[in-house]
Amino acid sequence: MKLNEKGLLVVISGPSGVGKGTVRRALFELPNHHLEYSISMTTRPPRTGEVDGEDYYFVDRKTFEKMIEENKFLEWAEFVGNYYGTPKEIIEEKIAQGKEVVLEIEVEGALQIRKQIKDAVFIFIVPPGKKALYDRLTKRGTESDEKIRERINKAEKEFLLAHKYDYIVVNDEVTNAAERIMAIIRAEHAKTQRSIHNYLKMLEED
Ligand code: 5GP
Repeated sequence: MKLNEKGLLVVISGPSGVGKGTVRRALFELPNHHLEYSISMTTRPPRTGEVDGEDYYFVDRKTFEKMIEENKFLEWAEFVGNYYGTPKEIIEEKIAQGKEVVLEIEVEGALQIRKQIKDAVFIFIVPPGKKALYDRLTKRGTESDEKIRERINKAEKEFLLAHKYDYIVVNDEVTNAAERIMAIIRAEHAKTQRSIHNYLKMLEED
């Protein structure tokens, strides 16, 4: 898939428990942007307060596996016993329309996209320290000890993948992290290779 001149695919990722979801929500609350969030599909049961079609599309394993077979995901991964995936068709449509689409996904899926879409922007969110990450994973309170241990093991391996990303954003404070991501998105728009075609076209039309 090739991004058109205006479209931008922003992949926000990072180790489990780093607060990607919270930072992504804060990003969307910032003023003056036209970002669109790509709603993922998952087989994880909804948490209290989560809404189908807003937080995720919640489906059963059979439905998800059928979609894998039919090649309907841009990427997908099995994460701590559940499937998560990005529905391909919606993303392709939005990018074709020149929209700025934000994905918030775990690292395995992010690296699948890295291989397919060369001009997407990859942002790795990191915690201010390991202790902050462990505290978050333990205090979430919605999961069994075994699941928490699984998430910690996974996070330790994921830390080592930072070098595969274009940018690293420290989640020291949620609003700061969101503002740093917004600054990256704005800077990406101004990059010569993205903006020169529009600029030359404008000169021609002048
Ligand atoms: P949670 O169960 O806490 O909502 O999400 C678990 C992990 O799955 C998080 O790291 C989240 O970013 C990731 N995730 C959410 N949607 C997707 C997706 O579509 N694809 C992939 N690969 N990971 C996802």
